[in-house]
Amino acid sequence: MPSGTVSARLGDEPVRFDAIGHFFAGFDRNAPESETLFATLSNGQTITRTLAIAPRQWRIERVNVPMRKGGPSAAFMKIRRPELAAINAARAEQTDADGWKQKFIWPVKGRISGLFGSQRIYQGVPGAYHSGIDIATGESGTPYVAPADGVVVLASQKPFSLEGNLLIIDHGMGLNSAFLHSSKIVVHQGEHVKQGQLLGYIGSTGRATGPHLHWSLKWEDSRLDPLLFTGPMP
Ligand SMILES: [Zn+2]
Repeated sequence: MPSGTVSARLGDEPVRFDAIGHFFAGFDRNAPESETLFATLSNGQTITRTLAIAPRQWRIERVNVPMRKGGPSAAFMKIRRPELAAINAARAEQTDADGWKQKFIWPVKGRISGLFGSQRIYQGVPGAYHSGIDIATGESGTPYVAPADGVVVLASQKPFSLEGNLLIIDHGMGLNSAFLHSSKIVVHQGEHVKQGQLLGYIGSTGRATGPHLHWSLKWEDSRLDPLLFTGPMP
């Protein structure tokens, strides 16, 4: 940020920055071709910069079956609403984590069984795109570690209906990681974790067809591709 910046936003999204003006921001899969960064200075002046967003290719699969009809049942939503409230509250938490500055590492090595952004189109009707990356090691119980420093903002006590045992780590500046389907989580709410520290064990709790780690990254409301943080799987 320019020196003297008192507030900033990217499009409509407020952007946080540290004492020396460093910040983190990311673009959603479905972001427009460009976005404007606004920095308002203490003298009232606003500096803008237009950022071009490079398009990417996504794995799209067209299937000749209709998309499943009908929304979730009332009985399901009764269970789901408090789960969503817990997830939203955790993601809104602001901690002193500064993992956002780090080069991220893979939480576990394995086969990538689902790419971020992949999507099925059912007889022309697009389904939701995959919001994270799936890593399969072939068995349950494989340990996984923190990709960067952070603070635990959610470690579910019992499995959530879709995510199973869910762990959310805040990396600071609005950036957070979620890890789904664990067989076991070994860290606790409020705990500071270091990059490489054991977080839990891979499983297939919640809605999962086999043991895998679904890792998703979000900055504010934008879903980000973990591959852009780690580079290719070694
Ligand atoms: Zn997944």
